[in-house]
Amino acid sequence: MATNRTFTMLKPDAVSNGYIGGILKMINDAGFRIVAMKYTKLAAETAGAFYEVHKERPFYGELVSYMSSGPIVAVILEKENAIADFRTLIGATDPTKADAGTIRKIYAKSISANAVHGSDSDENAQIEGDFFFSKLERF
Ligand code: UDP
Ligand code: MG
Repeated sequence: MATNRTFTMLKPDAVSNGYIGGILKMINDAGFRIVAMKYTKLAAETAGAFYEVHKERPFYGELVSYMSSGPIVAVILEKENAIADFRTLIGATDPTKADAGTIRKIYAKSISANAVHGSDSDENAQIEGDFFFSKLERF
């Protein structure tokens, strides 16, 4: 059953480029409510565990070192049809292929440093939110 929740991270490039405020504004303007939010930095081991599902893919090593290179913002979001609507809001993985007006088109520089994560299913949104947040950290 759809939970109407998704999970996002503002990735190290978005944080270091000063885009936290701009991206959160786009998220709020698109009608998402913040359920939980945390500013933190992932150890390589933690980033590796989060992206475990990609461990056979050629970019895994680069992705893990990149995602542990600086602080990130982890966020659980709520909205009707959250998973699909958030994927639409962020745009394609490769920012050169992302639609105009999407977060990745506006804020991302490359396919690896692409500003934001977005869950791809209700099941993964649950798993990813649980990775970062306890029940007491959700409102
Ligand atoms: N990624 C990469 N090279 C690729 C594909 C993906 O560095 O060729 C990175 C990128 O940061 C992406 C993440 O791996 O966001 C996860 O890949 P996925 O295919 O799940 O893309 P997403 O769901 O983030 O659009
Ligand atoms: Mg994905």
